[in-house]
Amino acid sequence: MELTRYGFVIDQRKCIGCHACTVACKSENDVPLGVFRTWVKYVEKGTFPNTRRYFTIERCQHCEDAPCVEICPTVALHKRPDGIVDFDSDRCIGCKACMQACPYDALYIDPRSHTAAKCHYCAHRTDRGLLPACVIVCPTEAIIAGDLEDPTSEIAQTLARQQVQVRRPDQGTRPQVYYVGADETAITPGLAIQPPQYLWAQRGPAGVDLEPKGSLLELAQRTGGTPETPPARWPEMDLAPPAATTTHAVTVYDVAHPKPWGKKVSSYLWTKSIAGGALAVAGPLLAAGLASTLLTLGAAVLAVLFTALTAALLVWDLKRPERFWRVVLTPNRRSWLVWGAYILMLYGLASAAWFIAGLAGGSSVPAPLLWLGVVLGVAAAGYSAFLFGQAEGRDFWQSSLLLWQLLGAAALAGAGALAVLGAIFEVSNVAVLAALGGILLGSILVTLGIVVAELYLPHANKDVATAAAIIKHGPLAREFWLGYVLLGAVVPTVLLAAALGAGWPLWWVAIAGLAALAGLWFYEDTWIRAGQSVAMS
Ligand code: SF4
Repeated sequence: MELTRYGFVIDQRKCIGCHACTVACKSENDVPLGVFRTWVKYVEKGTFPNTRRYFTIERCQHCEDAPCVEICPTVALHKRPDGIVDFDSDRCIGCKACMQACPYDALYIDPRSHTAAKCHYCAHRTDRGLLPACVIVCPTEAIIAGDLEDPTSEIAQTLARQQVQVRRPDQGTRPQVYYVGADETAITPGLAIQPPQYLWAQRGPAGVDLEPKGSLLELAQRTGGTPETPPARWPEMDLAPPAATTTHAVTVYDVAHPKPWGKKVSSYLWTKSIAGGALAVAGPLLAAGLASTLLTLGAAVLAVLFTALTAALLVWDLKRPERFWRVVLTPNRRSWLVWGAYILMLYGLASAAWFIAGLAGGSSVPAPLLWLGVVLGVAAAGYSAFLFGQAEGRDFWQSSLLLWQLLGAAALAGAGALAVLGAIFEVSNVAVLAALGGILLGSILVTLGIVVAELYLPHANKDVATAAAIIKHGPLAREFWLGYVLLGAVVPTVLLAAALGAGWPLWWVAIAGLAALAGLWFYEDTWIRAGQSVAMS
């Protein structure tokens, strides 16, 4: 069988920055205002008077190993046999996971259909033997399209003769868009400073979920400015990546790249920690002989309630929430979003069974059900490490410590929430309170240690270092130091140390639990935001 592998060669030496490709693409594919399938970035380099402007044509790279295809839970994104990475809007649920997986900012959410879209190589034209619209319209023939496997094609011959580059080769995606004569600062994110102002436009604020909607006034108000007087400090620009200060390169025009996940995802991590932690903490305590309805009925109520909240947050964050069933019924089994949904469903059922067993048996749960609940609780807490691992565009989320941080957070959240529930129902069993207090104290310290290691040990690359710096002393520092370290770690540690000496008074443990839970939310939020604060294109 004849092999076909479509790709692009983009000769940056020929591009004159006319945007004809952008306009032709919009016209051909009916791309709405404010979003782009292909766009031209301008980078200016040098110091006056020796300066130069570079144009870079950006788009989906039709990767051989496409992480967007891997993470898409409903097979809306798929790789065709001819190498084109295409999408099916009818299958898309708008989870935005593909936008986190793509290391090239290639995807956007269509504001009309609320589904993901991107360059699909004008597949409808290609299937009829026509070239993509951007190729036809380019006045300088800077874009060459064709079959890379056909040695007689112009693209294959260009590749054979010219020295080419690809964007972000370190990502291992094997892009099928090759650049000729591109300056490093133009194709490597982080090598050019991102100023608050572009040539003809103001950069969008760093808020989340900024798919084009609402007016400039709304956007400005959300960030503390007005359309006429933008805020003095645009949060995500406070920290120029270290490399950008030495290249004398500045991005002077680009399109907006919204951060797809916001507070709903931060809260999802938090509610899931409480849900998973409830049975994962209560189970071993029951197995160790502690008897209390707090550990049976109480833990089961927390698990059911917070699993339901977790699922609700996940569905609420979808751009097409009415299609949520597709995750289960038409799934991509390589996606951890799908496995996460299965785990949460099973865990919800196991928690309900715990509740029924608690009603029947009072302060004990049958051993098989007890350990099933513990295992599923750990799985519910930990699976996100693999999901965020599939979000390959965000290097900060690729940490090998993430699984341990999530498990530590689940122990913290489970013990903290049980202590708060115990205070509400005035549980006076000192052995149970001591056990919860001990687990809470230990998990606070372990989680803090992992966070410190994450932020202060040598980083895998400059993107991870930049995200860590944004948390440590950048725009997220206040939330991190006051919200997480002070409220979530120092305050409960002091309280628990005092409680240890005072015989574990109920309210001390509960208040420590409440503070630790609040701090955990702040940490999840800084972590989600920092991961998305580093430029990908
Ligand atoms: Fe295109 Fe991004 Fe998917 Fe690669 S990961 S195929 S660039 S959308």
